[in-house]
Amino acid sequence: MKKFEYRHVFTKEYNFYLEKANELLNTISFDLSKDIIDLSYQDIICYFQSNYNIHFAFFEANPLEFPENNSWEVDKVENDQSWIKHKNLISNASFEFLDNEIVERISGITIPHGDRTLIFINQDRPFRRIIFTILHELCHYYFHIRNNSKALIFTSLNSEQLEGKYSDELIPFENEANIIGSILFCPTEKLEHMLLCSYNFKDMCRYTQMSESAMHNRLLNYFKHILHLNNQNALNFVLKIRNGQSHIYGPINYKISAKLQNQEKASTNLYSTNIICEICHFKPNEIGSKFCPICASKKTKLYNTLSYLKKEKVMKYSIVKTNSQGTPLDCPKCGTDNLEDNFNYCPYCALFIHNMCLGSNDNRFIETSNFGDYEEKSIYEQASSACGEYLDGGYRYCPKCGNETSFLRQKLLKNWEEELSALEASKKEKDLFFIEEDIDIPNEDLPF
Ligand SMILES: [Zn+2]
Ligand SMILES: [Zn+2]
Ligand SMILES: [Zn+2]
Ligand SMILES: [Zn+2]
Repeated sequence: MKKFEYRHVFTKEYNFYLEKANELLNTISFDLSKDIIDLSYQDIICYFQSNYNIHFAFFEANPLEFPENNSWEVDKVENDQSWIKHKNLISNASFEFLDNEIVERISGITIPHGDRTLIFINQDRPFRRIIFTILHELCHYYFHIRNNSKALIFTSLNSEQLEGKYSDELIPFENEANIIGSILFCPTEKLEHMLLCSYNFKDMCRYTQMSESAMHNRLLNYFKHILHLNNQNALNFVLKIRNGQSHIYGPINYKISAKLQNQEKASTNLYSTNIICEICHFKPNEIGSKFCPICASKKTKLYNTLSYLKKEKVMKYSIVKTNSQGTPLDCPKCGTDNLEDNFNYCPYCALFIHNMCLGSNDNRFIETSNFGDYEEKSIYEQASSACGEYLDGGYRYCPKCGNETSFLRQKLLKNWEEELSALEASKKEKDLFFIEEDIDIPNEDLPF
């Protein structure tokens, strides 16, 4: 394992940057209507491109500078977009050939240019390093250029050449851009989600697209400055995760829960006031119902920050869409959209169209003789002699008495257990499913 370059920061300084990063993440989350836990580096880039006047240009060395490697018979190459290696990373980027000396030394440059800011990105670097450079340069823009009357130019050097190359004046800016950049790359909530769900180290890197050394340093900073472990313990935790020692997730879970409990005590948190059904994870729309309208259970539990971070989903079950009077927009059996509120039955297929409580079995059958013969009442009759209100089109059970609804009896709604187990099975795979596998993940060092 290579030695990790790790620039020490004090907790006070780290938390100062963390707060700024979280403010920015909140702004982005609000702007894109997406939870922070679900933000990806693409979302961050997209936010900056659509809200600020920033132009990106990729660069690399001109192949004609290396005639010995040049197998083509060309003597001139144009600066055009066809040279861009990662076309999907940034829309409308341009391309420049720069001097080989610059390409060797520099990962990114941010230059204010009138109202506009130009960001140059070295594309002759591993993919994950390029993403990190983009986030780093965006931090320079957002925190150091945007509201600054002095037109500062930031040049990000390659990590191997960092020592002693930045002036003392610039080092705090570089530290800030590195730390905030790494938090944008992997917000604390996302990191906690992965730890609570016991992701192994490789999956953490895949899920966020961070390089191994960047993830190493992100974890180290998290354990030190957020969970407040001492240096030695923090490093031990990181190394155990990297070595796949899965027993380490127990103590980590414990520490995260303790941290969350303190946070929840200190503030009324958005997620701490919600109740969900313990069995089917449905969150009732009405307060005070006795029975869960999806599974008829009486057990509820608190949906708090810990549940949120584990992505314990609040389940949304399938539903028959109705108007505010409880009449289906389309008949769930024959599909007609000609249903009126005063109808009991669909005039085309004779379906009983409102979702109503059908009451207990005593309400379902009537005795037809003294010899124990029973007959089933019509659904309309059962509905008329039970709880009597029109219910939400997704309810399988009456929230008042826990008995079947007419939509469940008529099999108009899908089985909730099947819907739940389909979701559970895909939970972890879902995080990792859509992520393209990298060809190669070089293990380069990053200075944070
Ligand atoms: Zn920089
Ligand atoms: Zn339930
Ligand atoms: Zn019908
Ligand atoms: Zn009822």
